[in-house]
Formats: sequence, C-alpha cells, structure tokens
Amino acid sequence: MNTIEQQIEDLRKELRLHNHNYYVLDNATISDYDFDLKLKELQSLEAKHPEFFDANSPTQRVGGEVTRNFETVVHEHRMYSLDNSYSREDLEDWEKRIKKLVDGEVQYTCELKYDGASISLTYEHGKLVKAVTRGDGFQGDNVTANVKTIKSVPLQLKGDYPSKFDIRGEIILPFEGFIKMNEERVVLGEEPYRNPRNTASGSLKLQDSAEVAKRPLECLLYNLTSNNLGISTQFESLQKARDWGFKVPKAAKLANSIDEVLEFVNYWDSHRHDLPYETDGVVVKVNNLQQQEELGYTAKAPRWAMAYKFKAEQVSTRLNTITYQVGRTGAITPVANLEPVELAGTTVKRASLHNADQIEKLDIREGDTVYVEKGGEIIPKVLGVDLSKRKADSEPTKYITNCPECDTELIRKEGEAQHYCPNYNGCNPQIIGRIQHFISRKAMDIDGLGGETVALLVNEGLINNYSDLFQLTKDQVIPLERMAEKSADNLINGISESKNIPFERVLYALGIRYVGETVAKKLAKHYKSIDAIIGASQEELVNVDEIGVKIAESVTRFFETQENIDIINRLKGFGVQLQMSEEQLSGQTDKLKGDIVVVSGVFYQVSRNELKKLIENNGGKVSSSISSKTSYIVAGDKMGPSKKTKAETLGIALISEEKFLQKLI
Ligand code: AMP
Ligand code: ZN
Repeated sequence: MNTIEQQIEDLRKELRLHNHNYYVLDNATISDYDFDLKLKELQSLEAKHPEFFDANSPTQRVGGEVTRNFETVVHEHRMYSLDNSYSREDLEDWEKRIKKLVDGEVQYTCELKYDGASISLTYEHGKLVKAVTRGDGFQGDNVTANVKTIKSVPLQLKGDYPSKFDIRGEIILPFEGFIKMNEERVVLGEEPYRNPRNTASGSLKLQDSAEVAKRPLECLLYNLTSNNLGISTQFESLQKARDWGFKVPKAAKLANSIDEVLEFVNYWDSHRHDLPYETDGVVVKVNNLQQQEELGYTAKAPRWAMAYKFKAEQVSTRLNTITYQVGRTGAITPVANLEPVELAGTTVKRASLHNADQIEKLDIREGDTVYVEKGGEIIPKVLGVDLSKRKADSEPTKYITNCPECDTELIRKEGEAQHYCPNYNGCNPQIIGRIQHFISRKAMDIDGLGGETVALLVNEGLINNYSDLFQLTKDQVIPLERMAEKSADNLINGISESKNIPFERVLYALGIRYVGETVAKKLAKHYKSIDAIIGASQEELVNVDEIGVKIAESVTRFFETQENIDIINRLKGFGVQLQMSEEQLSGQTDKLKGDIVVVSGVFYQVSRNELKKLIENNGGKVSSSISSKTSYIVAGDKMGPSKKTKAETLGIALISEEKFLQKLI
C-alpha cells in the first residue's frame, strides 16, 4: 500500500475507534478538540486524494447529501409488529401456546422496548450498505444517507462479522438531546416538538442529511434477521452484535420462567426513569433460534416474541391554581399548579395546559381533581377532570385577556391556538428573552455575560434592549449581585469584543422570528448589508433561495417597527457589524492556504478565470504546469492527455469542478 493510502487508512481506523468508544461505549478516549483535528486532517487528505474515496469513511458522517424522494425498498425479511401483553395471565397464556408447538425447555431473552422508529440495516463485507425504515412492514424508505450521520451506527464493523446480513434496531432520541433541540426551537419562536419518538422518526425523513447530522440521534440494535450465521440463541446474537461494534444495551437478561420474566418487568417498570431514553415496555423473546423458527409467525407478529407494555402512568391530584407564562416570543402558556404528587419516579408540581382551547375542551377549573399522565412527553399533561369530585361552587375558567407581566391586551391570530402579548418592546420576559438570545453562543457569543445577569440588568433598569448593552459601564454593573471587579471587567470586555462578530451572526442575533442560523446566512450572503435587507420588499425576499412567505413576512414586519430601526441605528453607531466586511465581500479566506493548484480543461459552473481567481482569493496558488509540488489538479472536461499522463506518473490527484467548489463552502 502506498504511504498516503496507509496514512488515510490509519486515520480512519483511529477515528472509528474513538467514535465507537464515545458513542457506543459511552467512554471518551480523546478530547473533542483532538478528534476534530484528526478529522480535519483526514478530510484534507481525502480531498487531495479522491482516488481513495470511501463512502463509509468517518468523514462521511457530517452529511450533505440531499434526498428529494426516498426510494422504496422491499424488505427481504418482513418487518413484523409485536403482540402485546399486559398481565401475568397474558404471559402465561402465551407460554402455553408456545409449549404446544415446541418440545423441550423454553428460555427467554428479556429486552427493553425502546420507543423510537424501527430501522433495518444491511451490511456487506463489514460496511453499511443500506438503511430502510419499517414503512408498512413489507416495504420502507431507503434512508441510508440520513442514517449514516448517526454516530452510533457503525459504518465499518470490527471482529468476525458475517459477510452479509441484516440487523434491526430502533432509532431513538435521548431525552437530553430532545430537550436541547426544543430549547433552541423556542428561542426561534418555533413550536417545540411534542415527544422524542415522533421527532426521531421525523428526522429520518428530512431531505438534508446535514440537518440529520445535527440531531443527537442514536441507534439501539436488537435483532439479527439473517439465517445461517452460526448463532443459536437470541442472547448470543446480542453479544455478537456488540462485538461487531453495534450499540446493544446491556440491560438484556435471560429468564428461565415467566416468573423470572416478571421480575425483569417489575424491575424496569420502576427503574426505567433512570434511563437516558424513553422505553414503553419489555420485549420477551424465545431464546433458542431453532425454536423460534419452529414457532414462526402469525399474519401480524412473530409467535416467538411478546411485548409487555408498562402500565400507563397516571395519578390524580388537585389542581390548585392556573397561572400564565409569557415566553420570549410573547406566547402565553397556561400552567396547572398541582398539589405535588409522585409520578413516574419524580414529584410533579406543574403541568402544561397548552392553550385556551384545551382548557375549554376539558373544562378544567381551579380546585378540580385532575388526572395527570406522563406519556412520551417530558412535561406531564392533564388528561381530564374527575367530575365526581367537583365542588358545587366551582366556576368555569375565564382565560386571561391581558398579559400577566405588562397588562397589555392579548391577541390571538386567525388559525393559531396560542394567545400572544403584542407588547414586543415593553414586556419584561420578552425583553429578557430577546437579549438572552442576542448574547447566546451561536449569536454574539458574549463572554462573561449569562442569562441570569441579563435578567438582573433588565430588572434593575440598566438595559431595555440589546443595543443598551454597548453603553454599560463597569461602575454600573459592579453593584449587581455576585459581581466582582474581575467579572465586571470580563463582562464589559466581552461586550466590546462582540463588535467583531460577522454580520450573518449579528443578523441571527437580532432575534427576528423564523430567522435561524441558516436563514440568516442566506440573507446576509444575498443582501450583504442590513440596509439592503431593510430596503427589500416582501416579494423580493421570497425570491431569495429558500426564503418562504412566512419568513419574508416576519422580516418585513420586524423592520416596519420604528423601535427596531432605532435599535439597529444605535448598534451601527457602536460599531457592530451590520454589513459584510471587505474580506467577506471579496470572498477572501485562507481555506486553500498552502495549496498549489493546476487548472485544466473546460468548466461549466464557473469560467477558467473565475476558477483561478477563486483559488487566489482563498489563499491558494495557481500554477500553470504540473510538477511534483502540485497539490492537486482541478480537472474539467477535455483535459489534455499529456497532462493526464503526467499527473498519473507523479501521483497527483485530479478533482472535479464540483468537488473543488464544495471545498470553498
Ligand atoms: P409495536 O410498534 O407496538 O407493534 O411494537 C413493535 C416495535 O417495537 C418493533 O417494530 C420495534 O421497532 C420496536 N422495538 C423496540 N425495542 C424492541 C426490541 N428490544 N425488540 C424488538 N422490537 C423492539
Ligand atoms: Zn406582556
């Protein structure tokens, strides 16, 4: 093997190992920083040597492939449902049916039932070749590009894996990641996702795999479906899958009787809340694969497996009061304040009531005894009212008409369930929320200033909008609670340094509804300055790639408000970047620093001259002849044969126009 190829292979192997340790074994063996360095090194080697491309390289996990229509794939082995059981009797009946059909002792494997979206993975020669959703059980969607971005799915197996096999599992979204995603959505004024399961299955069908890569999904495996793998029990197959690099939870246990199965069920019924992800029961499987085969399938489910559903967790308690919260976008959420009660391992004191319609539909009143359930959602919900306990003097709930924070009359738009406080610039939670967004990491990233300090500054009357931050003085902040000389310095410095944050991030920081990071980038790139965006009409905005009516409306509405224009003018005065810098405008970067590039052939997306200019603007050097110093050749159509031969003899890589342009993104 040539040394470059060896170097690439070694890096891939090392990164794969770190990935496995971190995402499958939950045991980090390298810092994030060092991991990124090595990944970058591999990326740059692969870019220079496309001849060693591997679709399953660790660099392929960042996504980028866009699927418009998912291809339909027929499952080689049907993806069945499971029969459900709810009691000891159900399980005992099942065992009786089994014993009629097979001889000898029956042992069971007990596993947790993970609540997500099922997936079927196909491996050939140790490489992931296909990932297909369950669909209707007979055929599903090919979502390989998306599944590749999930770090716990091995792209390359290890150990003594079979040359070809299918394995089934569940794509899940652990609680922590789900909550984080929702926090980000709320900041953008978007509806939070309802539960991890739907979010996981929705993620698999996103068109842009780079978006999927950002979601903290995981894949837990539970079934090898191929025959003749030299494995004789389910329990053993789980261990094998682990050895090959799959994430298979360790909770699985063998049981010799239904009593032992129930022990497992009871244990997890009370301990499942310690798990980092949602489970909705236990799956019991006949352990012996030979017996499984003899048992076979009904029209809907295997006879050799049974799901045992955990009891829905419900309690009743008194609803003491209904209060109303104002979010950072002004959205009002009614909250039920409950008599504290134990539910699913935690003490519940509050539950969301969603909106006015929900309260009316369930006729929920203060003083009622209500049923509360912890379902797939993180926040418990009120399911209904125990009317037999309602007091004679109870009165229907009158939904508030004015903001509980600023007393402004609430509004409700056509077709929207939520009430809003329209006092955008004068309602404290909205003011605080917007400034918190402004300073957040992906926005102005102001060091030394946290969310709580922002609330303090607003409540003390020191600031009223984010432009006021730039006028704060050390003397003003020192008297604040928990503020020392040094932290005051840091705060003031952090604010001042944020004046260097590039325009696209400032635009995101403004907190215009629906303008997330990606949209902000698009708008900044297209218009280049805040003034041009302010001057753009709604029709013009809609014509920008990926900007829809909803976003365009929100942008124009934002700039129609004089107060916002005043704030922007002040930001300009303080020197905040409200237009692209010279470097950004001329497209100058150092992405190609050190590269010596030869351009050859005919190009389609850009002209030869433009191509040369791009190389220079991005820090590379254009050279007219191929030599051993050449880093790579951007090869168009009709590249001369003599150049080709020369490149080959010197071992210099050719990359396409497209690949080259991708480097600059
Ligand atoms: P249901 O959708 O309720 O019929 O349940 C069947 C589904 O449970 C399967 O399609 C799997 O996606 C899922 N499942 C979760 N955990 C397991 C497991 N350990 N073994 C088998 N199936 C599981
Ligand atoms: Zn208000």
